[in-house]
Amino acid sequence: MPGIDYYLFRIMRIFNYLPVNPLSIGNQKKMFLEYFKDFDKIPAARGIFGNKTTEVLSKLTVELSWLNGYMYVDGNDGHIVISRSYLNSGNRTEIYLDLIHELCHVKQFMEGKELFDPRYAYVNRPTEIEAYRYCTKEARRLGFSEERIRRYLRTEWMSDRDFEQLVKSVNISNT
Ligand SMILES: [Zn+2]
Repeated sequence: MPGIDYYLFRIMRIFNYLPVNPLSIGNQKKMFLEYFKDFDKIPAARGIFGNKTTEVLSKLTVELSWLNGYMYVDGNDGHIVISRSYLNSGNRTEIYLDLIHELCHVKQFMEGKELFDPRYAYVNRPTEIEAYRYCTKEARRLGFSEERIRRYLRTEWMSDRDFEQLVKSVNISNT
């Protein structure tokens, strides 16, 4: 089963054909670095974009959405869409790790990769595995235990089987 970001992408793509996107009414767009100041100085971000980090992040747009959920990269132009309620009430460290995850997708988008390739299930999609591996590495660096990483990776829409597949793909032990 594809992930929730895939469904949101599909929904947004449908609305893109309408003159006014009803889901965008009241959505706020800002530059990434205005919301996440100095994010371009963070080693995990620099590990993705190298010496282009400041250039890329200063051009990146963030859209705050009224939709529920977490965040995803828009497959049309590569900007990041974040749920307002998640940004306001989510765990800060998890939001940080999600941002690192999404920045991996921004890079993939810039490289012309298909972010929502329907030939793959969400947990098997190479772009997802790459992004999950990278943010898991950052979680370990922050001192997350394997158990804490498992809790972070677990989302309500993922089946047990998909979850175990993801854990295996990103190489997390069962302890
Ligand atoms: Zn992803």
